[in-house]
Amino acid sequence: MPQRAATIVGGGIGGLAAAIALHRRGWHVEVLERAPRFTEIGAGISLWPNALRALDALGLADTVRALGAVEAAGGVRDLRGRWLSRTDNAELARRFGQPLLVLHRADLLRALTEALPADSLRPGSEVSLVRDDDHGLVVEHPGGQTRPDLVIGADGLRSAVRGALWPAAAGPRYAGYTAWRMVTEPLAEVPAEGAATWGRGERFGYTALPGGRMYCFATASLPAGTTAATSEYDELLRRFGAWPDPVPSLLAAVPAGGVLRHDLYDLPPLPSFVRGRVALLGDAAHAMTPNLGQGACQALEDAVTLAHCLDGSHDVAGALHSYDRLRRPRAQAIARRSARLGTLGQLSWPPAVLLRDTAARLMPTRVTLRSMAPVLGWTAPGEQAIATENESR
Ligand SMILES: Cc1cc2nc3c(=O)[nH]c(=O)nc-3n(C[C@H](O)[C@H](O)[C@H](O)COP(=O)(O)OP(=O)(O)OC[C@H]3O[C@@H](n4cnc5c(N)ncnc54)[C@H](O)[C@@H]3O)c2cc1C
Repeated sequence: MPQRAATIVGGGIGGLAAAIALHRRGWHVEVLERAPRFTEIGAGISLWPNALRALDALGLADTVRALGAVEAAGGVRDLRGRWLSRTDNAELARRFGQPLLVLHRADLLRALTEALPADSLRPGSEVSLVRDDDHGLVVEHPGGQTRPDLVIGADGLRSAVRGALWPAAAGPRYAGYTAWRMVTEPLAEVPAEGAATWGRGERFGYTALPGGRMYCFATASLPAGTTAATSEYDELLRRFGAWPDPVPSLLAAVPAGGVLRHDLYDLPPLPSFVRGRVALLGDAAHAMTPNLGQGACQALEDAVTLAHCLDGSHDVAGALHSYDRLRRPRAQAIARRSARLGTLGQLSWPPAVLLRDTAARLMPTRVTLRSMAPVLGWTAPGEQAIATENESR
């Protein structure tokens, strides 16, 4: 088969992973990224066992594992600091064959870019138009036009590719809450376990990164577009400064100017992730709220599955249909589940909060772990499935 060419629009985690998966199968790839360089924001990211299996399929799991910290244990606490649920992550790793890994986003992105030939990476290339008509596929960007065999729209929540080829699709919808993210300076004493504390319409979570730093995240139910009166850091101190330990000491270790804030959106389900020889992938296809920590994990699954479907097939459009069939129901179901968890986490009416916290306290850990199997138990197409629930006991 002559070498085929793919243009990937967007050089985030999803686009780069797709480029790697296709490059490894002999495709000529180019990644058009609008930013002046390939990089990620200053925050951490959790990669669950399903993502590590996707990275395994890309030949990168060992590289990425070396950049991250394995979370030993974690759970959910109430506003008084009492555990509502607690998971021993060794048990999670035993069940799902991989641990929960947390790393800095910039480190993950560097590992992905280093797995590609330098000349396939085109920063400063904002795609203005994608057409798929009788004259074939055309991608327009500042460097000119490209006419590839395949286009992958991996250009995120507000995807230009989706806007051009799915003009009737509804745009992102606001989840009703905003998120702050930050990475602390190295700490003398690192909390032994990660945790998320659930309050009333507010949450604060933290987990260890390598090198003694902690990745922290917080949410609050607020109208979209609200900004802090003075600074986002002051806003965090006001909201969370008196929360149970170690929240105040973590906030004290956040460097000046180190707080990121983003309103949270997800994407109403699309009727298809593909059109002709164009496929959407990652947030462009199924942006979800971060409550399950699965957005990037799903983008990695997309990338591996897409390349698998194209394997040995002359019919790109047919292969993309298989990709849509394999990916859309799963990614959309996970997005729905993530939204439901967010609704629970953001409850603010005291009787509802009491009910939620009581139910969480009564839920046995093994039931929680079992309920995660449909998400975390994913295996790459063509790989051997991990042991079933009964076999893994
Ligand atoms: C608060 C928060 C916490 C999260 N935590 C986790 C977590 O712990 N684990 C997890 O798995 N997921 C998490 N996620 C989700 C995760 O960040 C996203 O799902 C993931 O980054 C999506 O990757 P992507 O490559 O699809 O899109 P993006 O990261 O959005 O990348 C899209 C890229 O396309 C580029 N681009 C856009 N338009 C154009 C254009 N016209 N031309 C060229 N380039 C363009 C952009 O510059 C960008 O680089 C979190 C999200 C949030 C908001």
